[in-house]
Amino acid sequence: MILLNNSIHCKEPEIKVHDEVFFKENFQDEEYSSKEKFICRSCNFFITMPSFNYYIDGSWEHFFTNPAHKFFHVRTFKRAPGCLTWGQYTLEYTWFKNIPWIYAFCGNCNAHLGWHYSYMDQEFFGLIADELKYIIEGDEL
Ligand SMILES: [Zn+2]
Repeated sequence: MILLNNSIHCKEPEIKVHDEVFFKENFQDEEYSSKEKFICRSCNFFITMPSFNYYIDGSWEHFFTNPAHKFFHVRTFKRAPGCLTWGQYTLEYTWFKNIPWIYAFCGNCNAHLGWHYSYMDQEFFGLIADELKYIIEGDEL
């Protein structure tokens, strides 16, 4: 796993932060007003919401084992505004056929949350279910 910190200095690869301002400016109010959210398990930062679930290969729930034999329960989302993405897209060990990935981290604490996938007009996040907490806003965290 690659660790990042806020003082990282490099021109390549590209770093993108999708924050809540970006989110508010780019999406409909009714989508944003959902009280159901996924937040970072480590720091409670807003990451995404169930209404952004993204179906690929017939589901938004996926179960994979990486080359190091580590098991992952991954959920796919069309958007994850709380994620920071890092890296250069690669097809190496990709879990979705012919779709390259880069790393996705919490935009607040930099915990590794999963991966961002992009190919042609297809773009989505695959986030590790155990790294996110599901909340209904107004409930106790
Ligand atoms: Zn976090």
